[in-house]
Amino acid sequence: MNVNEQLLDFIARSPTAFHAAAAVAARLEEAGYRCLPESQPWTLLPGGKYYTTRNQSSLIAFSVPRTDAAAFMICAAHGDSPCFKLKEHEEADAAGLYVRLNTERYGGMLCASWMDRPLSVAGRIVVREGGRIVSRLTDAGRDVALIPNVAIHMMRNANENMSYNANVDLFPIVGSPDARGALRALLAENAGVRPQDVLAMDLMLYSRTPGCVWGVKDEYLSAPRLDDLCCVFCAAEALCAADEAAAIPVLAVLDNEEVGSHTKQGAASTFLPDVLSRICEARGADRRQAAAASFLVSADNAHAVHPNHPELSDAHHRPRLNGGVVIKHNASQKYTTDAVSEAIFASVCDAASVPVQYFANRSDMPGGSTLGNIANTQYSLNSVDIGLAQLAMHSAYETGGAEDPAHLIRALTRFYSSSLSTRADGEYELR
Ligand code: ZN
Repeated sequence: MNVNEQLLDFIARSPTAFHAAAAVAARLEEAGYRCLPESQPWTLLPGGKYYTTRNQSSLIAFSVPRTDAAAFMICAAHGDSPCFKLKEHEEADAAGLYVRLNTERYGGMLCASWMDRPLSVAGRIVVREGGRIVSRLTDAGRDVALIPNVAIHMMRNANENMSYNANVDLFPIVGSPDARGALRALLAENAGVRPQDVLAMDLMLYSRTPGCVWGVKDEYLSAPRLDDLCCVFCAAEALCAADEAAAIPVLAVLDNEEVGSHTKQGAASTFLPDVLSRICEARGADRRQAAAASFLVSADNAHAVHPNHPELSDAHHRPRLNGGVVIKHNASQKYTTDAVSEAIFASVCDAASVPVQYFANRSDMPGGSTLGNIANTQYSLNSVDIGLAQLAMHSAYETGGAEDPAHLIRALTRFYSSSLSTRADGEYELR
């Protein structure tokens, strides 16, 4: 498989953040990484490769250099995407003719893109096994739900200023009234558990529409969950491909970015600082001293210039598909990039022969946020916000450039093969 086929395969195997963490873990195991549970003491050997998970939905991986290096080269991306989360009592009657699912919005999706599209359900089932409470991943694995539009004849304003009420318009149907209970049974069966052992579930709707490369010259790549599984995939591939350097390479795949990151496993949690502290303790290093020569790449996709609405982009910052890695700036510091971190990361891209482009919001638009500035409140270090240009962010089917995943893998492989040293604040050497 080429890089884009591998990326699309990874996305298909990652319907939820739980599955994304598992897919990254499987890739890392293949490359010789071993799991260290947070609940156990850690022994780190020189040359060792390790990862740990929290909540089964966030993962941090690192390798231990054979030198006494203690600074970190970190790349963080998020494994969650906007979707619909099922409520505890997930089935309800609809018009006496259907069973529909009672859902809430998770994150800020483009609602229209979720309509009239076959959907599936996946997530985590918690079961009683003997005296233990155990979590199992589950996936219906086939199309089981759909949110139908109202016909144009019944809603004449459907093409003008349509608004969606999440408690009325966005519930999917899963079958006829006699299908009650069938979804739970299917999800239990696919998780390999007995329905009577199920204690609780975290379930999400997702799109199974396969990703594809398209365009008259195969320029583009579209898939569900491109934001941010594209950056997760590229960072994991880069970590596995990197050469050993005089720094500790770290990959952080964090959940809950789409809902603000304030969970025990999100970028605002202690997960990343806890892991970095344990690495420093195991190596007899000072965590504060390590931070001064460490660097964080916050990798999350960026908005490309829209073909029909170029006026929505800043006139002088026009990221394009296949234009290489986008470095993002924001005066309000929703993006962490500053002159120092831009200079360092642009130098990494230059050394890897990867083109760089720049993003800034129009001066009259607030724009979005991501995980770098939030992670920085927990462990503060030089940090840059980057991503790949894409269209239709938060659609159920997003579009990027077919050449860009290879660009990002090359840049991040170079980043993970590098180290930073510093003698004074503002003075750095990149090797
Ligand atoms: Zn994102």
